[in-house]
Parts: sequence; C-alpha cells; structure tokens
Amino acid sequence: MVAPADDGIVCVIGAGYVGLVTAAGLAEVGREVRVVEVDPERRTAVAAGRSPIHEPGLDDLLAAVVGAGRLRAVEAMAEGVAGAGIVIVAVGTPPTPEGEADLSQVRRAVDEAVRSAVPGAVIAIKSTVPPGTTRALARGCRRGDLAFVMFPEFLREGSALDDVRHPSRVVVGGEDPVAVERVAALLGGPGTSRLLCDSVSAELIKYGSNAFLATKISFINEMAQLSELTGADIEKVADGMGLDPRIGRSFLSAGLGWGGSCFPKDVRALETSAGYHGQSFWLLKAAIEVNSQQRRRFTAKLLHGLGGSLEGRRVAILGLAFKPFTDDMRQAPAVDVIHQLEDLGAAVTATDPVALDQARPLLPRTALVGDPYEAVTGADAVGLVTEWPEFQALDWGRVIGLMRGRLVVDGRNCLDGEAIAGLGGVYVSMGRRPQGLPPAAPGAAVEALPTGVPSLPLG
Ligand code: NAD
Repeated sequence: MVAPADDGIVCVIGAGYVGLVTAAGLAEVGREVRVVEVDPERRTAVAAGRSPIHEPGLDDLLAAVVGAGRLRAVEAMAEGVAGAGIVIVAVGTPPTPEGEADLSQVRRAVDEAVRSAVPGAVIAIKSTVPPGTTRALARGCRRGDLAFVMFPEFLREGSALDDVRHPSRVVVGGEDPVAVERVAALLGGPGTSRLLCDSVSAELIKYGSNAFLATKISFINEMAQLSELTGADIEKVADGMGLDPRIGRSFLSAGLGWGGSCFPKDVRALETSAGYHGQSFWLLKAAIEVNSQQRRRFTAKLLHGLGGSLEGRRVAILGLAFKPFTDDMRQAPAVDVIHQLEDLGAAVTATDPVALDQARPLLPRTALVGDPYEAVTGADAVGLVTEWPEFQALDWGRVIGLMRGRLVVDGRNCLDGEAIAGLGGVYVSMGRRPQGLPPAAPGAAVEALPTGVPSLPLG
C-alpha cells in the first residue's frame, strides 16, 4: 500500500549550499527530513553529521539533527521521497556557455522524483529557474495527483542558517492554492512576510531580486569611476545617497563588483530569457559589462601602480572566495584578477582563510598559502580582493615591512588608507583619492588618470 503524503516528512534533493541548509533548518523545527544527494563525498559527510561546505553554524546543527535521527542522507530517490508530502528540488542550475540556466539537473531530479512520489505530494522547485519552467515541469510530469510550486530561495552564503531560521520573506508561487499554502507553512514565523502568487511571478521575483541588487552595485561602481575622475570620495557619495530611505546604503559598496554562484549566472540568465521573448534588457547588459570592467580596473591599478609592467613583479592577493565567510569560489573576482595579473607576467601569491582547497584547481599557476604574512613577504604590491575581517585586522606595519614594494590596492574599500599611508604604504582604493603619494603639483590632476592611480616609481 502506498503511504499517504505527509507534510511532516520533507525530501530535499541536493545537499548543496541551499539544499543542505534548508534541510537542516527544517529538521531543526521538527520535520523528518531526507536529503537525496548524488555526490558520494557530500552524502557521506552529511550522513556522518558533518557539513561538506563551509557555512557558519552548519556543522553543529547537522551533528544535532543527524544525531537525533531527524535528518538522513540517502542515495536512492525512492527512499528519499517515500511518504514525503513535500519534495524540495535544490539542485544546481549552472550557466550554459550561452548564458542560459542549464536545467538538466532540475529535469533529471524531477523526473526521478515523480516516479516514486506519493499521491498528493507537492514538488517545490527551489532551484533558480527561468520564467515558465515550473509550469513546463508540471505539464511534462504526466501525473495529475502531484502539484508543482516555485519556492525561490533568498538565503545569503555566509549567513545562510540565520536566513533560513528567520527568512526576510517567504515567496511561493503555483497554480494550486492549497499546495502553495502547504509549502508556505514550512518556514518562517508569524512575523515573516509572505507573498503567494503564480509560479511565473515567483520565478521572476527571484531573478528580479538578484538582478536589481547586482545593478545597484554596478551603478555605484560607475559612480566610483566618476568620483575618481572628478576628485569626489565614493564612500561619502554612497553614504549620502544611502541616507535616502528610498535608496538605502546596502549594496552601494564600490569595489570589485559581484561574483558568486548566483548574481553572475542569474543576471545573464534573466537577460537571455528576456531575449527569447524579444526584449533587449539593456540595463542588465550594462550591469554585466560594468562588473567585468571593475575587475580589469583593479588589475590596471596594480599595473599602473607598479610602473606599467608586471613582468617579474610579485603580487600578493588577499582573499579568494567571492565574499567573506564562505569557501565558494564560483565566479569569484579573485580568479579573473589573478589570471589577468599572471597573463601580464606577475608571480602571484594568494591567501584566504577558508577557500584555499576550492581555489587550488582554478589557479594552477598561483602560489596559495595559509598565512597572510607569508603571502605578502617580498611582494611588490598587495591587492585586497575579499573583505575578510582577518585582513582588516592585520598588523599593517608588519605587512609593509615584509613587502619589497609599498603599493596596497584595496578592491573593497575596507582598509584604513590613512593608517596604511602613515605606515609608509601607498594606498589605492576604488573611487577615492590614493593616499601616501607625494603631494601633487598645484593644478595637476593625478586622479584624472583612467585607473585612478598614477604610474609611480614605487620602492
Ligand atoms: P550546489 O551545486 O552547491 O548544490 C547542488 C547539489 O545538488 C549538488 O550537491 C549536486 O551533487 C546535487 N544534485 C544534482 N543533481 C542531483 C540529483 N538528480 N539528485 C540528487 N542530488 C543532485 O548548488 P547551490 O548553490 O545549493 O544552488 C542550488 C540552486 O539554488 C541553484 O539553482 C541556485 O541558483 C539557487 N540558489 C543558490 C543560492 C546560493 O547562495 N548558493 C541562493 C539562492 C538560490
């Protein structure tokens, strides 16, 4: 006899950044959770109550819920979905070379799940998918006794567990209102904002949110370039703009731009989807171009600061992960920047508190070291790429002392430039005047150079 669909049992397909954190959060609030994972290494780690990814707090929570028997990692889909009222699909949707979302993992996971799901189960698509995907999957599954909803995820890596415990909002979209309600009841408390809608709108809410935030960052980065050209200070500009509650200060940090597993692929996928519908989404094309330009501008600051040639120069890069508190290297600006520096002849030594193992296969020419002081020893220039608090807390006097040169390029505007200049360094950031340079001759506009840093004989 087939077990009835029970919403107390949840199956999560995919033990990645989204699936595993969601699964652990659901187990914590009392659901019986099965995680189906194809990757044996990830599955074995979860089965042992260990997290295969770096996410603050996740190891402890997994140990607790696995130990209590509320979360199980399984290989067979049939075992995972047996009796489950809700099946959450949280597999990857990486970009194709053309920029579309590659839906092959989603299609395979859904195909397998619908073969064994119990009647009355809801298939909740948590993977980020283009508009119309959830409806197409429902049409293609040929089982009228299952419902499909889009259940977009808004968690941020690095604070993912908090985001699942206290979501800023719960959005569920689908054509069956009862199924939508059942999924919306999974997470969040009485104070959580909920938006229930059709599945296409839910798909666009997810893409629109990421694309809007990415565009906001690209906008402030364009403003940072103009600040360099006009002599303004982008931090003051952003503070002043951010005081307007309609604008807000978040996502107005000038720097190396966006990376990671979501923004780059989602912005491109939305732009490509719009193209299929006959729309040229110009704003997104520009946001993408500005973002790649920021990486080249950072490299150019190092190049110009070292006199126009990187041949035989040693550059230390602080930070590899696409942002602090994660080991995720997907689309990390550090990878492009380091490749550019190496192509220009520099020998690069890089460090990161947690991402060295993930970075190693992506950076075959780079010396990767765990100790930042070792990384900067003998360097002609230091470039800060990821704003880890560890790098802000370095003894910068010691850093400058260990370097061969004295150029520090801060790609995240997170260091104390005045202090570094006071210690003998030359501090260059994004959208602000360099510090530690000899005073410019009256009337000379050093900041009018395209990279915001003049070519100087440094050390
Ligand atoms: P991920 O690559 O870390 O995890 C996906 C997991 O699914 C992998 O472990 C993979 O082995 C597993 N998998 C693939 N096919 C499977 C199958 N048929 N059966 C069982 N397991 C399978 O990806 P992620 O970062 O967790 O992202 C998942 C989705 O969520 C993507 O669509 C992404 O865009 C979206 N998303 C990610 C984030 C984020 O911060 N990472 C935030 C919001 C939304």
